[in-house]
Amino acid sequence: MGILDGKTALVTGGSRGIGRAIAERLASDGALVAVHYGSNETAAKEAVAAIEAAGGRAFAVRALLGTPGDVDTLFAGLERGLEGRGLDIVVNNAAIQGYGASTLEGATEADFERTFAINARAPLFIVQRALPLMSEGGRIINISSGVTWFAIPEVVYAMTKGALNVMTRSLAHVLGERGITVNTVSPGITETDMNQWLVDSTESQRKVAAMVALGRHGQPDDLADAVAFFASPDSRWVTGQTLEVNGGLWLG
Ligand code: NDP
Repeated sequence: MGILDGKTALVTGGSRGIGRAIAERLASDGALVAVHYGSNETAAKEAVAAIEAAGGRAFAVRALLGTPGDVDTLFAGLERGLEGRGLDIVVNNAAIQGYGASTLEGATEADFERTFAINARAPLFIVQRALPLMSEGGRIINISSGVTWFAIPEVVYAMTKGALNVMTRSLAHVLGERGITVNTVSPGITETDMNQWLVDSTESQRKVAAMVALGRHGQPDDLADAVAFFASPDSRWVTGQTLEVNGGLWLG
C-alpha cells in the first residue's frame, strides 16, 4: 500500500533531472504519473520504463511549453492518459535556465518572453486548466529556485522564479476554500543536465560542497523526497509556503 494509491499526478519536465526523480518517487508512493516532456522523447520513455520496472504506473505526455497551444496540447495528452480519472497532484517543474540569454547583457526581448512563457506563464495556465479535474485534497507544487534569495547573473531566470513564488502565495489564497494546497519547493545546486558545469568538474563540486552546511551538492532524489511530503496527506495543514531544499546553502 502506497500513501498515494489511487491518486494521479502530473509532473512537468518529468523526463529528466529533478522532475524524473519526482515522477519516480510519486509513482513509488502509488500515484499514476503523467511524465511530461518537451522534446526528448527517449528520456521520457526511459523514465516511464523505469517507473514500470519498479512496479509503478506512468505514461508520457509531450508538449513543448512556451509555444502556441502548449497547455492545450499538454491537457489533450494528459486527459487521454488519465482515461476519465481526475487529477490530484500537479508539479510545475519544467523550466529553462537560459544562461547567456538570461543575463542583462545577453537577453533579448524574445529571450525574455520565451523564458517567462516556459517558467512562469505555463505553470499558471497549467493550474487554470487542471482545476476542473481537481477536487478537495488536491496538491499543487511549484519548483522554484534559491536564486529568488541569492543573486546570480541570470536575471531573467531569477525573475521567473520570483514570479513563481508569488504565484504560490496568491494561488494558496484563492484555492484554500477548495481544500487545495499550493506550495513551493526551492532547490539549491543540484546535479542535473541543467548544471553541466557541476557534473563535469570535481573542482566545481568541491567549491559547491564548501558553500553547503551538509558538505555536498544536491541530488534529484533530495528534492523528490521533499515534493513527496507536499504531495502527501501529511502536508494537509501547509499551504502558501516555500521550502528551501539545499543542504544548507551558504551555511557551509
Ligand atoms: P533539467 O534541465 O535537467 O530538465 C528539464 C526538464 O524540463 C526536462 O524534462 C525537459 O524536457 C523539460 N523542459 C524544459 N524545457 C521545456 C519546454 N520548453 N517544454 C517542455 N518541457 C521542457 O532541469 P532540472 O532537473 O535541473 O530542473 C528542474 C527544476 O528545478 C527547474 O524548474 C529548475 O529551474 C529547478 N532548479 C534546478 C536547480 C538545479 O541545480 N538543477 C536549482 C534550482 C532550481 P525535454 O528534455 O524534453 O526538453
